[in-house]
Amino acid sequence: MIKFFDYPSVNKPYLKEISKKINEVVDSGNFILGPRLEEFEKNFSSFFSAKFSVGVGNGLDALTISLKALGIKSGDEVLVPSHTFIATWQAVRNVGAIPIPVDIEEKTYNMDPSLLESSITSKTRAVIVVHLYGQPCNLEQIKKVAVKHNLRMIEDAAQAHGAKYKGNYIGSFSDVVCWSFYPTKNMGCFGDGGMITTNQKKIKDMALMIRNYGSKKKYIHSEDGINSRLDEIQAAILNVKLFKLEEEIIKRTKIANTYLKEIKNESISLPHIDKGVKHAWHLFVIRTKKRNELVTLLEKKGIQTLIHYPTPPFEQKMFKSKVNICPVAKKISKEILSLPLYPGMKMVDVKKVIKTINGFK
Ligand SMILES: *Cc1c(COP(=O)(O)O)cnc(C)c1O
Repeated sequence: MIKFFDYPSVNKPYLKEISKKINEVVDSGNFILGPRLEEFEKNFSSFFSAKFSVGVGNGLDALTISLKALGIKSGDEVLVPSHTFIATWQAVRNVGAIPIPVDIEEKTYNMDPSLLESSITSKTRAVIVVHLYGQPCNLEQIKKVAVKHNLRMIEDAAQAHGAKYKGNYIGSFSDVVCWSFYPTKNMGCFGDGGMITTNQKKIKDMALMIRNYGSKKKYIHSEDGINSRLDEIQAAILNVKLFKLEEEIIKRTKIANTYLKEIKNESISLPHIDKGVKHAWHLFVIRTKKRNELVTLLEKKGIQTLIHYPTPPFEQKMFKSKVNICPVAKKISKEILSLPLYPGMKMVDVKKVIKTINGFK
């Protein structure tokens, strides 16, 4: 059986170190907004070259809090990619704004910068880009349009820990960058977790308040807030995992490169990598018009696969009929398939996946 993702294999090398850190938190009795979170926020900022980091409860909250901190509100329009995890769209809805889909490039599956300008109206206030599957989107071109039209720019980097754009880690290019530490992400904790990075003090101060009941000083509440704080146990775990990220990306890249080099089948197309980016290989996504048949064959050989994502957000009940249909996203959602890939995946298993796919007719 070849699993799509195997938690024990991913975390085994660090479990001893992590257990020690968890025990220290338990002994300290300090579980919320303590020294481990402060330390992790500091380490995270310096690792990703951002001025400020604010730890929050999960990736969706990171996006929602960022939109609130930027002043996005009811009736505003926010541009989002047509193809992404639902959280990108849901966050916009959470602040009462309207997600407006911009279709993706067929090659990279990221937002198509050439379609951006025609989606802007007098109500547009912001654009959220996603570095889908771990590949940075075209940040410079999108920023050019955002600046020209006075839009705030948010990056959803939930799949992009360790990805690089023109030599620099994703993490400080836009007004705000949002992260998730959901266990299967490139930097996963042992539960839910999220982060906001920014270079702007005003945004940082707002985010700090919003995550903690709109309060800066205990029992004084000056903003509409929520309760969404990265807890001390997760922060302690992530303080270990942050410094393993580079070696984990090397492991992911080695598997991805093996797939890229050795999968040879006319009915399958492999991921395209843009110039000037370093793909973080959160997911390895192939495409085929014969997806059902391929999944059946892989299942028969004990190989798990997943689809990210089978139904585009604009076809979900909650958004349907309220927004445009995007043809590229619709087309590729019927063809994409994610192959097993995680740090610690054995090379014999990688080769078995390749052999099975190469024998597929
Ligand atoms: C996982 C993910 C999120 C949400 O993160 P959670 O921590 O699960 O809330 C947001 N956007 C994208 C693209 C994701 O993959």
